Amino acid sequence: MVERTLAIVKPDAVSRQLTGEIIKRYEHQGFKIAAIKKIRITKSQAEGFYYVHRHRPFFESLANFMAGGPMVVLVLEGEDVIKRHRDLMGATNPKEADKGTIRREFGTDIEHNVVHGSDSRESAQFEIGYFFSGLELQS
Ligand code: UDP
Ligand code: MG
Repeated sequence: MVERTLAIVKPDAVSRQLTGEIIKRYEHQGFKIAAIKKIRITKSQAEGFYYVHRHRPFFESLANFMAGGPMVVLVLEGEDVIKRHRDLMGATNPKEADKGTIRREFGTDIEHNVVHGSDSRESAQFEIGYFFSGLELQS
């Protein structure tokens, strides 16, 4: 089943000039880039994106991190791409992520873990719509 997922190259990765390295891995997996842009969001926009985590202790720090510099947001498209992208990312905590995953190779700590990926069809739909308009998703 062809799906779409939202990927983010987070501000830590953009500032460390890892954007190209990460996108190269997506293309090597055969994921199609349906949309892509570099943006910088406000803290309240970051809070809206991570609304499901609003009661978690790391919420405010996470919002500050995501608003702290530019990020690259992408819509990836492909067969089973939601799970395949999550597998390529690795576990949330880079120290627990499998070898060869993006977070294991490049992540610093559980917050600064270089990439985001939608975890379900429902979250992908919300997250893609949070950053991209219908016009940007044509192609
Ligand atoms: N995060 C954090 N501390 C934690 C758990 C998560 O700072 O204890 C951050 C981390 O950047 C993570 C994001 O919050 O990617 C969203 O957390 P989630 O549990 O959804 O992890 P993900 O889906 O990104 O693997
Ligand atoms: Mg998540």
